[in-house]
Order: sequence, then structure tokens, then C-alpha cells
Amino acid sequence: MTHILPETYLDYSDILIKPKMGNNLNSRKDVLLSREFKFKHGGIRKGLGVFNANMATVGNFKIAKTLLKAGLFATLHKHYDIDEIINFYHECEKDNISTDNLFITIGIKEGKKEVEKLLQLKSKGWNGLINICIEAPNFYIPKALETLKYARDLFPDAVIMCGNVASGDICLKLFEYADCLKIGIGSGSVCRTRAQTGCGTPMVSLILECADIAHSVGGHICADGGIVEIGDICKAFALNADFVMIGGMFAGSDEAEGEIIERHYQSNEIIDNQNVILTKHFKEFYGMSSTYANNKFAGGMSNYKTSEGREVLIPYTGSMEQIIRDIKGGIASACTYMGASCVKYMSKCATIIKVNNQLNTVFAKYEK
Ligand code: 5GP
Repeated sequence: MTHILPETYLDYSDILIKPKMGNNLNSRKDVLLSREFKFKHGGIRKGLGVFNANMATVGNFKIAKTLLKAGLFATLHKHYDIDEIINFYHECEKDNISTDNLFITIGIKEGKKEVEKLLQLKSKGWNGLINICIEAPNFYIPKALETLKYARDLFPDAVIMCGNVASGDICLKLFEYADCLKIGIGSGSVCRTRAQTGCGTPMVSLILECADIAHSVGGHICADGGIVEIGDICKAFALNADFVMIGGMFAGSDEAEGEIIERHYQSNEIIDNQNVILTKHFKEFYGMSSTYANNKFAGGMSNYKTSEGREVLIPYTGSMEQIIRDIKGGIASACTYMGASCVKYMSKCATIIKVNNQLNTVFAKYEK
């Protein structure tokens, strides 16, 4: 008989971090945002554990460079070729930007060939650290594990992140070869998987489930998808996620792929007997399983597949530098509310409460 698990799985909007006494921090300035990550197979990296998603619009060189420069982590999407990536490494070197926290994405479609492509990094002269992100919308399929094993064979010292999965049961198997698991299915801002398949796991309960297993074997987890507010990043860290991955929140920035699109709207406000015309700016953003992405990168949607991604116009949000400042400010502030002197201690200090109402949005629609 089919069972329904009795526990209600929670998402970011179902919880808050309770502020509390026991704090010896006087200012957000005193919070240490960077932490050390000692990976199971692949050495040590340092930084603030926030990644851009390895999607075509935000996993690009411009966003990666801005994140690395600011001490965060970055991925490159899987559509760059090796020469372009090597040029990028050298460009960063020239600008004194460390690429130690840069992850190169490969897919699993072509199996071992995808991994072998990365051997060219060395043969073409790149001697720096290599971090790999192995990407499959569904990492439960056997080919995903085979690709991961092969990547570990060929790159024994690399940091390897892989995903996505959305349950604890598969974690131990994957940590035999992986350093970090990307968790989250169906949470993304341009994701239609839950609508289309009825499958997915809410992020809060998923982080708790997987972080526990990961940390018991020295593995790390990256909570991928569903970051709507900066507070959600704070919640993920408070729940013991090591990394957070962000798509939509970066997709409206100057550095994201695509032109700024201008649209004019007639408002209800009337001046000199005329409706005021508002100008708003947008950028295009699309899911990697959308029809658009399949047409662009895979020569069309195969007839056994269906679109699990949206294509949207989202508000233009300005420079990545400002967004990163906001992220750092938000995390530092959360740490002072909960008495954590550094990001690493957030999960130790956090008291998490389940809530019915998370945000007061009464004036949100009037925002200038
Ligand atoms: P966001 O930060 O925009 O909420 O979520 C980003 C994440 O959504 C990505 O890192 C990826 O895991 C997921 N994602 C991106 N494109 C698609 C898609 O077309 N379908 C699904 N199901 N997930 C997607």
C-alpha cells in the first residue's frame, strides 16, 4: 500500500530564525562571513558559501568573476568550451582574482566523454586547482553515478560537487565519490517539475535531512533553488547547509546574460489629464529544462520529454556588486540577531521556529 509520511515537510516560507539573547557582538562588522571548507576528497577552500546557479544566463563569466572577486563561490555553465575556460582562468589570474572557488560544470548526457573533456585543461596548460560540478536535473539515474565515479577516477584531487537529488537515501552512496551534493528538486524560480511531475521536496526539511547525513561522513551540501529573499540564504545556513546556490536572484543583474528590455505601461495616475506612462526594465530568464533552452542547446525538445522549465521576463535589478553587498549585509545582520560570530556557527546558534506568517507585505505593491 502507498504510504503518506505523517510529517509535513517545510519550506523557507514556513520558518523564521528566532532572535535571542546571549550575544556578544556589537556590530555586523564583527561577523566573519568567510569560512573554511575541508572537503572529503578534494582539499580546502575558503569563502562565503554562496554560488551562482550553473544555468546559461547566470553561470557566465561575468557573474562568476564578480562572485570570485567578492570572496564567494562560482560555477560556469556547461556550454563553454575548454579554450574559453582556460582564457577565463588566465584573465582572472591577470586581474589578481583567485579561481580556487570556481567550479566547471559538465553534464552526464555523453557519459565519460564529458569527464574526458576536462583532461584538456591540463594538456592545454592549466596547472591550477580544478573544481568540478556534475549536473543532471535528476541525479538518481545510473548514468549519473557512473559519470561521478569516472570523474573521481580521473580527478582524484578535485573538489567534485554533483546533483541534484532531493532525499537523504542516496547521499551516502554519492559521498563515496563526491565532496558536495547539490540538493533541491522542484524549488527553483523557473522550475516546473512539481507542476509537471508532482515530484519534489521542500527545502527546509530537505536540508535538515541531507545535512545530517552529509556531515556524519565529512560531506557537504549545497541547497539549490528557492532562494526568494536574502533571509532564505540565512535560513539555509542556519539549518546547516554548507552552500547555497542562486539563480533567479542574480538573473536580473547587469552581469547576467541578455539585454535589458524596456517596456512602457500606462499607470492609473493622471497628470495634466493624461495617464502617466511608466517605464520598467526587465531581463529574460529561462529554466534549463524549458523548451527555449532545449531548442537553444539541444537542437530541440526530444519527443519523449516535456518542458520542466519556464521562460520569464524578470525585473532588472542592477549590478551584481550591489546584490552581493545586500547578501553579505543580510547574513551579517542575521548573525548578530542570533549571536553567531561567524557563518560557520549559524547552525549552532540558531533557534528555528515554524510560523504561519513570515513577511508583512502590506505596502510591497507600492514600492518605488
Ligand atoms: P532559483 O535560485 O532560481 O530559485 O533556482 C535555481 C535552480 O533551479 C538551479 O540551480 C537549478 O537547480 C534549478 N533549475 C534551473 N532550470 C530549471 C528547469 O528548467 N527546471 C527545473 N526543474 N529546475 C531548474
